Amino acid sequence: MKSERAEPALLRRINQRSLLEVIRRSGPSSRAALARMSGLTPPTVSKVVESLLLQGIVEEFEQDRPLLGRPHKLVKMATTSAVVLGVVIDAGSSCVTQTGLDGQVNEEQTLRFQTPDTYERLLDELEQRCRTLLSRTNAKPRGVGVSVPGLVSERLEQVVFCPNLHLLDHRNPAGDLETRLGIECLLLHEPQALCLAERMYGIARDLDNFAMLDVTQGLGLGVVVGGMILTGNSGMAGEIGHITADPTGIRCGCGNRGCLETLATDAALMRMMQDRIKAPLTLARAASLLDEQGDDFESEIQAVAGYLAIAIAAVINTFNPTTVFVHGKLLVENKDRFDRVVDGVRQRTLMPLLAECTIVPTRSSKRQGAIAGIMHWLTEGRTPGLGIRRQL
Ligand SMILES: [Zn+2]
Repeated sequence: MKSERAEPALLRRINQRSLLEVIRRSGPSSRAALARMSGLTPPTVSKVVESLLLQGIVEEFEQDRPLLGRPHKLVKMATTSAVVLGVVIDAGSSCVTQTGLDGQVNEEQTLRFQTPDTYERLLDELEQRCRTLLSRTNAKPRGVGVSVPGLVSERLEQVVFCPNLHLLDHRNPAGDLETRLGIECLLLHEPQALCLAERMYGIARDLDNFAMLDVTQGLGLGVVVGGMILTGNSGMAGEIGHITADPTGIRCGCGNRGCLETLATDAALMRMMQDRIKAPLTLARAASLLDEQGDDFESEIQAVAGYLAIAIAAVINTFNPTTVFVHGKLLVENKDRFDRVVDGVRQRTLMPLLAECTIVPTRSSKRQGAIAGIMHWLTEGRTPGLGIRRQL
């Protein structure tokens, strides 16, 4: 008897999940249009919309003066009654952003700051910025996605080890922020959050096998296999950045020498450029130096592009994805330099695997990752029987 009663509840949640997906993708729509697009019956759509309205996840509003017929109501993701926050913690700089449930990230609602050097001060800065953003709105905060680099253990619910930002070691900034703010906060492994962002905002919407390589500070990897994020035993799978590429190379944040992430990232290229000019550089300054006088840094570009090609080839050879998204700046945003990386990948990948795979710069950002993570949790995470956090 119990399972018979559970079934309608599960069906309701499946309908809710698929209708939310349609509303999120298509923007403001009438109930009739939602029925057409989702394939659900009009009464089912109405029932689900009523439930979503009660939960404050969607809003309904009068359409302005339609050309034909009487005005009717449109349904959209809530933007005036509910908001979510996204927190990105990174080596160098961090940020907090606020959006409606439509997930539209903008610069006015994003507060950036230099990552402090102690964990307590980091929490203070994050709390203060979250409160500043929330004070600007009357909307109800529904949750905070906290994206972090390093190894995140789902089992322990903490960052167990962060080679680029050791102040996060053995910490759970999401849990600590939740205590301070009284709002549900979700800890997200940055590459996995980027995978969710690419699904929500980018071109991975219909992809079930893809990889996301973050090559900014560290070398992070998120992999989606058969529609599921690859997590391993406790969520720590994908640490390709700490494969040894040069046993006599420089010391990595993990303690070993010559890890791929010391050789294949924006941070690596910046370090090599600084060594050459013997002066400190910001990422923006490094980018303009490469644009203006790239020839001067030819050997550095060649070296880092070569290692990045090895990293991408390793991902393709191991996971057979249809697409590899690459998130980075110095070698990724510039077309000529990215083409060089892709040429390198051709030399390093098994041909049949490469033939099935496209390598593209990602369009989504880390703050979109944090927002996509919390949105995923709010709209789909609690769906029983369909997997929890890790299922897309
Ligand atoms: Zn390492």
